[in-house]
Amino acid sequence: MQYQTRSIVQESLDALMDDEMFLSDLKDAPRKKAFSSLGAVLSTPNKIHKSFLRIVLEKGEIVRIPAFRVQHNNAMGPYKGGIRFHESVNEEEVINLAFLMTLKNSLHDVPFGGGKGGVVVNPREFTPKELNLISKKYVQYFADVIGPDKDIPAPDMGSGEREMDWMMGEYKNIKPGQPYRGSFTGKSVINGGSLGRREATGKGVYFTFRYTMSDFIQKQKSWLEKTGSPYAKTALDLYEKPLKVAVQGFGNVGSVTALEAYQCKHLQNKVVSVSDRHCTLYNEDGLDIPTLVKYTASNQGDLPHTDDMLKESGIQADILHRDEVLTMDVDVLFLAALEEQIHNGNKEEIKASVIVEGANAPVTADADDYLNEKGVIIIPDILANAGGVIVSYFEWLQGRETQFYSEEQIYKKLYDKMQGTMETILPKYFGDPHSLRQNCYIHSVMKLSTVLYKQGKLF
Ligand code: NAD
Repeated sequence: MQYQTRSIVQESLDALMDDEMFLSDLKDAPRKKAFSSLGAVLSTPNKIHKSFLRIVLEKGEIVRIPAFRVQHNNAMGPYKGGIRFHESVNEEEVINLAFLMTLKNSLHDVPFGGGKGGVVVNPREFTPKELNLISKKYVQYFADVIGPDKDIPAPDMGSGEREMDWMMGEYKNIKPGQPYRGSFTGKSVINGGSLGRREATGKGVYFTFRYTMSDFIQKQKSWLEKTGSPYAKTALDLYEKPLKVAVQGFGNVGSVTALEAYQCKHLQNKVVSVSDRHCTLYNEDGLDIPTLVKYTASNQGDLPHTDDMLKESGIQADILHRDEVLTMDVDVLFLAALEEQIHNGNKEEIKASVIVEGANAPVTADADDYLNEKGVIIIPDILANAGGVIVSYFEWLQGRETQFYSEEQIYKKLYDKMQGTMETILPKYFGDPHSLRQNCYIHSVMKLSTVLYKQGKLF
């Protein structure tokens, strides 16, 4: 996992040190001391909770499964972040992901801090009954440190709506008579989940791209023409042109992003390639995304990856190697599968002028530097894939109010929030030498630092 917490914090603070508007009443030695304290506070988590969940398997054998809950920072509100069920999840990864949640929530003005959980299991190797037990045990072990006003978990890789329903049910048992609807988000709608939560991340990913590459340019065209920024040049070169799009990953995030691109009337998009764990599909005239969405829904999430499957699906496409999507000759590449997909080994072969991170950390730090220097616009995870946590916040609010919003209201609120963030960040990005990622980090760290200072946490 590629987040270098300490260097992200340090580089952001270095950039803020010379900004006279930032913590302007702190000068000279007190300023240096405050910045050093901020470095220490933000680059380490507040708390790490660990346990071994004792599970009796259906065969009767007892196993002890490592489980974590990391609470990085709660200056902005209760800790918030998913619980990852994965066989290789480890403490360091969970710390990094919790840190990313602190930054993401701060960036988008979501009144939560950052947390993350992990359970070291491959969910495919356990029966539903065993997964139910694992979910309930997780809540039993961590019940005193989570809760609607303390720390609100959500699904992450390997966990979903089903696990959140189980976990909320267990929390309700353990804390009778206390508010419980806001204890977990990502629940099923009938259990207090929000309409639109499943689509929120993919829709947000596409909206971020659309706003950056179209709406923003439309409003700021004459200013962008004068900035001399290489990123502005890339954006203006693509503005109002027909765009070829590729999407890596066709799961929850990738399939919704691809469908949004296919259906978008605002831009002339053609989705020429999509991929998943088996293959890349390619059609230079554009793929029939709605049919692929239907196909995957009835084929365990997988794209057609043999000639017979392709025939059965009715899709016109060539089947290519899984990784060919990354180096495809397209204008825009959405990454919605895994981390570290663009790296030193393939960075020079990337042809897209715009890369949008639906997954967390799909571009390594070295590849990020290389592509930014070439003027490639990289819309980072922290900005692009926050739709899930933003709608989780709406779910938490709806649970408090016991009032529920329509799908239309949810998307309107989601886009308003993401647009608010972009209206702050994009003028900075196109007006200074930092990458979009660095601008997001600096802005997040600035807000967090101001809150910590004002809360008297730096004495
Ligand atoms: P998912 O499990 O629904 O889908 C993952 C997709 O990636 C599948 O189509 C799978 O076949 C494909 N895939 C797996 N290995 C691949 C490989 N080597 N090459 C190409 N494709 C591969 O997951 P998701 O919910 O869509 O999440 C995708 C990514 O986005 C994950 O990294 C996740 O952490 C991140 N993310 C998800 C959300 C969310 O709300 N779902 C929010 C933020 C970030």
